[in-house]
Amino acid sequence: MTTQANKSIVSADYPTPPFAEQPQPAPGLASKMIPVPDHGEKSYRGSGRLTGRKALITGGDSGIGRAVAIAYAREGADVAINYLPEEEPDAIEVIRLIEAEGRKAIAIPGDIRSEAFCQQLVKEAVEKLGGLDILVNNAGRQQFNESIRTLSTEDFDATFKTNVYAMFWITKAAVDHLPRGASIINTSSVQAYNPSDILLDYAQTKASIVAFTKSLAKQLGKEGIRVNAIAPGPYWTPLQSSGGQPQEKVMQFGASAPLGRPGQPVEIAPLYVTMASQESSFSSGQVWCSDGGTGTL
Ligand code: NAD
Ligand code: MG
Repeated sequence: MTTQANKSIVSADYPTPPFAEQPQPAPGLASKMIPVPDHGEKSYRGSGRLTGRKALITGGDSGIGRAVAIAYAREGADVAINYLPEEEPDAIEVIRLIEAEGRKAIAIPGDIRSEAFCQQLVKEAVEKLGGLDILVNNAGRQQFNESIRTLSTEDFDATFKTNVYAMFWITKAAVDHLPRGASIINTSSVQAYNPSDILLDYAQTKASIVAFTKSLAKQLGKEGIRVNAIAPGPYWTPLQSSGGQPQEKVMQFGASAPLGRPGQPVEIAPLYVTMASQESSFSSGQVWCSDGGTGTL
C-alpha cells in the first residue's frame, strides 16, 4: 500500500548501485558514463537569483562544475568555463546550454597547472564577461594510489598543482577584479575531514582548500568579498570512474551513504547558487557539505 509518507516528491528517480564497470583515461568525459550524470540539463529551474552576475567556473565542462554552470545561467548569470582541451566534447554541450538561456557563454580551455595560464584565464574571462563577481574554483585531480610507497612525486605534484596551486594562482589573479559583494566558492570534499587510505595526496589538497577558504575569508571580509567552500560526498562524475577510485568501488559508488546512492551533480548546484547569491550576504569562511546523510560534517 502506498502511504503519504513513502510517495516520492523528488523530480527524478536517481540511479542506485550497482553500476557497470566503466574505466576511462583521466580526465574522462561525462558523456561516456553509464548512466550519464544528471547535471540539471532538463531538471534545473532558475528563479533570477543571479541576474546580471558574471561567473568563472573551473572544471565547468562536466560533473559538479557543469551543474553549477547550467544553474548559474538559468539564474541569470553570464558564465565562463575552463576545462582541459581533451574535454572539448563535454564543454561544447555546456556552452550550448548556457547560450540557450540567452546568457553569455565563454569557453577557455587550458591546463591550470601553469601559473601563466591561470593568469591568462582570469584576464580573458574578465575581458569577455566584462567583469567578474563570482569565482568557482572547482577543477580537481583525483587518482587513487594504494600506498605511500607507490605514490610518486610526479603524482603528488600534479594533484597539488591542480587542486591547490591553481586555486591560489586563479584567485590571486582575480581578486583585484572582484567588486564588493563578490563571492569566491572553492570545491573541497568530505576527504578533507575523513580521508580514505587510497587518496593520501588528494585528501591533503582538500584539507588545504578548507584552510585557504577560512583564511582568505578573514582577509577579504573588509572588502565585502565572501569566501566559502563546498564539501561534496560521493557524486556521480567522471572524476571517479577515470582513476579516482578502483572500478570495484565505482560499481558500488554511493552504497555506503545513508541515502544509498551517489548524488547527481544537479543535486549540489543549489548550494553553489546560494553561496554565490547576495541572499547569503552574511555567510563566509564556511564549509557546506552535501554527502547523502552521514552527518559527519
Ligand atoms: P569532473 O571530472 O567532472 O570535474 C573535474 C574537472 O577538473 C574536469 O572536468 C577538468 O575540466 C578539471 N581539471 C582537472 N585537471 C585539470 C587541469 N590540469 N587543468 C584544467 N582543468 C582540470 O569531476 P567532479 O567530481 O565534478 O569534480 C569537481 C570537483 O568536485 C573537484 O574539485 C573534486 O575534487 C570535487 N569533489 C568531487 C567529488 C565526487 O564524488 N565527484 C567528491 C568530493 C569533491
Ligand atoms: Mg570533465
